[in-house]
Amino acid sequence: MNPAPTLDPPDWDAFRAQGHRMLDDMVDYLRGIRERPVWRPIPDAVRGALREPVPRGPTALAEVHESFLQHVLPYAVGNAHPGFFGWVHGGGTPVGMLAEMLAGGLNANLGGRDQMPVEVERQVAEWARELFGFPAGASGLFVTGTSMANLLGVLVARTAALGAESRRRGLAASGGGALTAYASAAAHGSVARALDFAGLGSDALRLVGVDGAHRVDVPALERAIAADRTAGRRPFLIVGTAGTVDVGAIDDLDALARIAAREGMHLHVDGACAALAVLVPELAPRLRGIERADSIAFDFHKWGQVPYDAGFFLARERDAQLAAFAAPAAYLRRDTRGLAAGSPWPCDLGPDLSRGFRALKAWFTLKVLGTDALAEAIRGTCRLAQRLAARIEREPRLELLAPVPLNIVCFRHRGAEPDALNAAIVRVLHESGLAAPSTTVLDGRLAIRAAIVNHRTEARDIDTLVDAVLRFGAAGPT
Ligand SMILES: *Cc1c(COP(=O)(O)O)cnc(C)c1O
Repeated sequence: MNPAPTLDPPDWDAFRAQGHRMLDDMVDYLRGIRERPVWRPIPDAVRGALREPVPRGPTALAEVHESFLQHVLPYAVGNAHPGFFGWVHGGGTPVGMLAEMLAGGLNANLGGRDQMPVEVERQVAEWARELFGFPAGASGLFVTGTSMANLLGVLVARTAALGAESRRRGLAASGGGALTAYASAAAHGSVARALDFAGLGSDALRLVGVDGAHRVDVPALERAIAADRTAGRRPFLIVGTAGTVDVGAIDDLDALARIAAREGMHLHVDGACAALAVLVPELAPRLRGIERADSIAFDFHKWGQVPYDAGFFLARERDAQLAAFAAPAAYLRRDTRGLAAGSPWPCDLGPDLSRGFRALKAWFTLKVLGTDALAEAIRGTCRLAQRLAARIEREPRLELLAPVPLNIVCFRHRGAEPDALNAAIVRVLHESGLAAPSTTVLDGRLAIRAAIVNHRTEARDIDTLVDAVLRFGAAGPT
């Protein structure tokens, strides 16, 4: 008779040996990543190598790993590389990688139940509460990223404004059509999408102008709120940005907190880019007021260097978070003892029921490296941004297009048709594998945007970027 079928390895010793080889490969990859191109174009043959019918039969683990080494690993985005400056991507750490392996082995489902993995997540939430100066009674939850955490913020604010009954009665019967929210024109697109997903419509988000430093224009915000009140609307939410995606500007969160308190509105802070500046004593004062927010969204996977994905949502009042998400279900009945103890569960604090153990890689990262080391990495990226800005100002063929308050530098090469020229420079830069910035548009002008987030980036990487921009700029649009 055949043994009962199982998906475990038929030969554990062989599996262990192959597993060690795979770990060695990834350690070598990370250790030598600087010697590789940041990114490289994907040849058609490589794309084609993956195309095949559903694999009905088995393939040796070593063979699939070889395919990963050949076809996948060399063609990733490159954000682990010190020469990566595109968008706002974290670099990850080897420690975080190992924690991912442990989490995968444990295969914990963090929706709820009485288990220590949930306590790990609660501990990280407690650290977040401490870092942001939130009171006891705050609560937090890992989510995919700040896009999702911003949605949670809108949903908590919506329920607070309309009452928990609105979750049953729906928006139309609860006056949801009158709600209006406010953010700066420099806010991330996920804020408008959150209003959309929340059923309020993205038009309910008023985009207020910014000052010369790209921070929300506070008097204009107050005028917009007053005008909506006069028109019979119901202002319910202010979204402040701690680190705009274009230039890294931080809104005057103290002023926003004052207005939100006066107007009886919810203050949510999108801190994806820069909330973790709170770890750095000389940067933390710029976030003043964040401790008065009703909720904060931020990403451990950006400046926090935790591997993707590791977004976080922190609410000032757990009861407000529960009011927005908790729901009774017979099959999720709670108890005071046994596995069903430990209520409320993470599934009461957000939309997900089954949830992975994201908390473990954050817990390992914070404990093994310590927040002082993360702070030093953050500080280092800001120092490099200043170095880049200074070099740009010294180069007559380059111009800086925005202030550099933190770790993001927007600049361009001068030329007859600067938009086409700089788009071409970035394209060629990517294909060269030397450096990978992205682009944005500031005041109608296309900018090369270098977001320095990776702890591996050094001064020589900044020099490589500038030298290459100058070289490709001299060659003209291609
Ligand atoms: C990156 C970013 C987001 C989106 O976060 P994800 O983790 O990518 O979902 C939102 N707001 C700002 C300011 C960002 O920089």
